Amino acid sequence: MSLLSLLAAALLLMPSDSVNICAHRGYWKCGDIPNEQNSLASLRMAQEYGFWGSEFDVHLTIDGVAVVHHDDTKDGLLIHTTTYKELSEKPLSNGETLPTLESYLDQGWKNPSCMLVLELKPQKGRDETNALVDYCVNALKERKLYRPDRVMFISFDLEICKRLAVEAPEFTNQYLGGELEPEILHGYGINGLDYHFIAFHKHPDWVERAHRLGMSVNVWTVDSVKEMEYLLKLGVDCITTNEPLKLRELLSR
Ligand code: MG
Repeated sequence: MSLLSLLAAALLLMPSDSVNICAHRGYWKCGDIPNEQNSLASLRMAQEYGFWGSEFDVHLTIDGVAVVHHDDTKDGLLIHTTTYKELSEKPLSNGETLPTLESYLDQGWKNPSCMLVLELKPQKGRDETNALVDYCVNALKERKLYRPDRVMFISFDLEICKRLAVEAPEFTNQYLGGELEPEILHGYGINGLDYHFIAFHKHPDWVERAHRLGMSVNVWTVDSVKEMEYLLKLGVDCITTNEPLKLRELLSR
C-alpha cells in the first residue's frame, strides 16, 4: 500500500465532528461551463476539489454492460432494452462516450481520498437485479476496488440493498427510499440510510436511532444552506449535494 493510500485510510478512520461532502453525480454544476453530470469529467472535478465522495448511477444494458447514467433513457433509448454499442453512438453533451462502470472505476481508482458512492438503479426484475449486484461486486474485485474504505453502495431498490447485505456485507449499503424506519432496515441487514431532507424533517429522531444501531446516515440531495444547517444540527454523517462548495463554505465558518 502506498503512503498516500495509508494516509487516506487513516483519515477515513479518524473520528470527525464534521459532515462528509458528497458531490451529486460528480461535481458538475461548477464554473461558467458546467460538466455533464455523471461524466468522467464530473468525477475528475470532484476528485480535484477534494470532496469526500462522488455519487454516480449504474444500469445494465440489454447485452449486460454496466453504464453510468442517471436517467433510465439516453436520447430516447431505454438503457435496459438497448445494446451498449447503440448507446455509445449517443455521446454526452461534453463529447464523452457514455461511461461504462469500468471506466468510472478506473478514474475513481486514481484518487484514493474520494469515496465512490455507487447508486445501483432499479432493474426490470429479480434476475436483472441480481445480475447488476453481482456485476458490480465482481467489477470492484477485478479493479482492486473491493474496498469499503474506497467504495459504498446506495439504492432505491430494497431488493438490491438486501442482496448487497449478503454479497458484500463489509460495505456501507444505504437504502434511499425514505419511508422505512432505521430498525426495519437493520432487520434486513442493511447498514445505512440515505433519505431526502423531508424524511429527516418529519422524523428527526431517525438519525439518532440509526446511529444507535451502528448505521450511517446520508441525506440526498441538499442544495439549500438552510437545509444543510438543519441537518448539521441533527448530526448526519454525509450530505449529498449539487452545491458542494456551499456546504464546504458553511463548514468553514
Ligand atoms: Mg443517483
